[in-house]
Amino acid sequence: MLFGKKKGRHVAIIGNGIAGVTTALTLRRRDKKARITLISGESDHFYSRPALMYLYMGHMRLWDTKPYEDHMWRKQRIDLKRGWVEHVDVENKALRFTGGETLDYDQLVLATGSTPNKFGWPGQDLARVQGLYGLQDVESLEAISDQIEHGVIVGGGLIGIELAEMLHSRGKRVTILAREESYWDNAMPREESLMVGDLIREGGIELRCGAELAEIVPDGQGRASAVVTKGGERIACQFVGLTAGVRPNLSALEGSAVPTGRGVLCDLSFRAQAPDVFAVGDCAEIVTPEGERNRIEQLWYTGRMHGEVLGRVLAGEEATYDRGIWFNSAKFLDLEWHTYGQVPPAGRPAPDGVTQIYWEDAAQRHSFRLVMDAGGHVIGVNAMGIRYRHRVCERWIAEQRTPDYVLDNLSDGNFDPEFYHRYEPAIVGSLREQLR
Ligand SMILES: Cc1cc2nc3c(=O)[nH]c(=O)nc-3n(C[C@H](O)[C@H](O)[C@H](O)COP(=O)(O)OP(=O)(O)OC[C@H]3O[C@@H](n4cnc5c(N)ncnc54)[C@H](O)[C@@H]3O)c2cc1C
Repeated sequence: MLFGKKKGRHVAIIGNGIAGVTTALTLRRRDKKARITLISGESDHFYSRPALMYLYMGHMRLWDTKPYEDHMWRKQRIDLKRGWVEHVDVENKALRFTGGETLDYDQLVLATGSTPNKFGWPGQDLARVQGLYGLQDVESLEAISDQIEHGVIVGGGLIGIELAEMLHSRGKRVTILAREESYWDNAMPREESLMVGDLIREGGIELRCGAELAEIVPDGQGRASAVVTKGGERIACQFVGLTAGVRPNLSALEGSAVPTGRGVLCDLSFRAQAPDVFAVGDCAEIVTPEGERNRIEQLWYTGRMHGEVLGRVLAGEEATYDRGIWFNSAKFLDLEWHTYGQVPPAGRPAPDGVTQIYWEDAAQRHSFRLVMDAGGHVIGVNAMGIRYRHRVCERWIAEQRTPDYVLDNLSDGNFDPEFYHRYEPAIVGSLREQLR
């Protein structure tokens, strides 16, 4: 049902992350009257989750990670409510918080993000075992840091390397256990994955690929004291970081009538399958009309795009989400990675007819890859250590350019700072050779 703008409906948003905040601000720009409440158990104010590691490393204060001034929320007339929601009563349109307080709503947005995976490992709930997701994780890590000489990180994805870098920055010995054949090979082609693996080891962090956690051993006082791998190796440690991926955080929905799969089931306008309930960001599981595999998108920029669409939908506009060309970027220690479109990872078979050309420098710290479909059109771009403009890479793929076109125009895409070494002559020379 659409609410008349004059009625001043109450929109409650659980989650003050990028998805919830973007929904609130997009709606406010279109509807000055709606009462909007932004709820979070984690923090009073929105902050940048990708910047979490820099808090621990001392590069930033919490204040530096907040995209908006604290007084902005009052000016936008967005009420902030600190508390954990433990029950959603869809029938009576009410939320219950830990402690028993309740809050009524007319429309509810679930923007509850993710939670770190735990796979039932013995010892996973011991003290000195944790993930890295929120401010409370940084606080608890800070509280035990003096006890840590050696930390073991389970899972070698993006968050795993960040946690490893955090501990390493304080002079701790760090071991990463990754079950893949080479570092994060379910997301990267083999060459790039090996490059990052070498970088991690050169940086002084032990990386053990093909190693899986079997159990975490207690020390007799309820704290982790060692891990045992499935290969039977025992590694003594005083900290275990669980970073084997994340899953949608559905903790507020236990016993509620909101249908869920892996996440909150919703359509491309982020309507959940319960009256006046919506879901955006990491916690949403998008059911596509084409019946493709449901999509869960756990990235900062997709959370923002979800919120922009839902804000318009809540304001009464027709809007559907179109993610466009896939994009991701990350930093492994000091090596930047940017990927656009379809770049088959080493750990999965490439689709039929796909071809690839690849260049890397002798020092193995810079690389560039183009991926083509069976018709010879560029469908994917991967760059390590060199920055190419997002819009330009997207355009190459959207306009179905040939690799020759991309190589002719490669320099246009580079946006490394002035005086950085330019690799384009070497890349173009090598890739043209491979195209012959
Ligand atoms: C360490 C780290 C580094 C990352 N780096 C990157 C990166 O470089 N690039 C990138 O694209 N992505 C990165 N991500 C992922 C990115 O941060 C998430 O995709 C994004 O934050 C999801 O936004 P969201 O709004 O859906 O949820 P979140 O940011 O997770 O916010 C969820 C909110 O819901 C609230 N909440 C949850 N349950 C309840 C409840 N029951 N009651 C009350 N409040 C509740 C929480 O308090 C929180 O405010 C990183 C994630 C982590 C953890």
